[in-house]
Amino acid sequence: MKQYKIAVLKGDGIGPEIVNEAIKVLNAVATSENFKLEYTEFLLGGSAYDKTGDPCPKETIEGCLNSDAVLFGAIGGYKWDNLPKEKRPESGLLKIRKALGLFANIRPAVIFDELIEASTLKEEVIKGVDLLVVRELTGGIYFGKPRGKEKDKAYNTMVYTKEEIERIARIGFEEAMKRRKKVTSVDKANVLEVSELWREVVEEVAKDYPEVALEHMYVDNAAMQLVRNPKQFDVILTGNIFGDILSDEASMIVGSIGLLPSASIGGKVGLFEPIHGSAPDIAGEKIANPIATILSAAMMLDFLGELNGAEKIRKAIKKVLKEGYRTKDIASFGAKRVVNTEEMGDLIAENAGN
Ligand code: NAD
Repeated sequence: MKQYKIAVLKGDGIGPEIVNEAIKVLNAVATSENFKLEYTEFLLGGSAYDKTGDPCPKETIEGCLNSDAVLFGAIGGYKWDNLPKEKRPESGLLKIRKALGLFANIRPAVIFDELIEASTLKEEVIKGVDLLVVRELTGGIYFGKPRGKEKDKAYNTMVYTKEEIERIARIGFEEAMKRRKKVTSVDKANVLEVSELWREVVEEVAKDYPEVALEHMYVDNAAMQLVRNPKQFDVILTGNIFGDILSDEASMIVGSIGLLPSASIGGKVGLFEPIHGSAPDIAGEKIANPIATILSAAMMLDFLGELNGAEKIRKAIKKVLKEGYRTKDIASFGAKRVVNTEEMGDLIAENAGN
């Protein structure tokens, strides 16, 4: 029987509530698909700071590096907002991503037919959207040097090396091979030299994937096309700052924040997490939507090679939504019965485990 070691970082706020439901669903699928998941919990974020004085303790990094994958909830909360920057929960997250070498962030944006009304776009524009944003996560303007702020001047530098572009482009093309085989590489090559290099390297990598159709698009146009005709996209491949903006835009056109998963990969182990934060405003109320985390767990199974298990989870979610079960955040979109976090987890686990 195949066995996988999963490092679990529940984090703060609603983190523990939603991760518990994802584990429940994973266990149901593992039993039915005949593989085993062995979980070890580690501290990250505010809860780690409270216990150890460090938002990302050494044991957490070591534990993650010794696992096959990391399942993460969310970190942060009012309680830690006034700490110095390096002690804040958010810096713990940046540290773990860096320590694990996660240079690629993958965010699917898929519309559930049952929740079409949750989108701000018209049904004919949004129905059938299924795209993936592949964003470079550890380079570009957020990290480039020199950077600084003086009295009357401030500056940042957008830098990409050929190697950084090549490795993220490969991930984009690999993902496209598993999907509809189209990559839209987004840049600003009409203005930025760094984008000129981006284009050249992406063209080079594309030669290794002759089945994949490649197009280039300027970022301003891409932002517009995402709301005009999102169905045209399969894989959007882009750098850090453009990806930051476009992935949020892509998420919101498909609806609620409680439904969207993500994967950060590139290093020895991948980290799988919902795109939302720790929602301190509803923590402990048992109303958080666990679906984004459960979908992140499905992405984790995909990356572990347990494709059937991942598909079972996605099917179970669709079925439960189709039957009209909704958590409070999406209750106004076709709810027949409003359920709490645990009940939603139970329903998905029951269906996924069949
Ligand atoms: P947030 O995503 O936590 O919450 C935004 C809004 O969406 C809130 O009203 C919240 O109740 C709601 N929401 C979020 N997830 C939900 C879910 N699963 N079910 C139902 N409703 C949900 O963003 P925020 O309020 O800007 O940030 C809160 C804290 O989270 C901050 O400390 C922030 O730094 C942190 N944060 C962490 C991450 C992360 O861990 N990756 C990401 C973003 C923000």
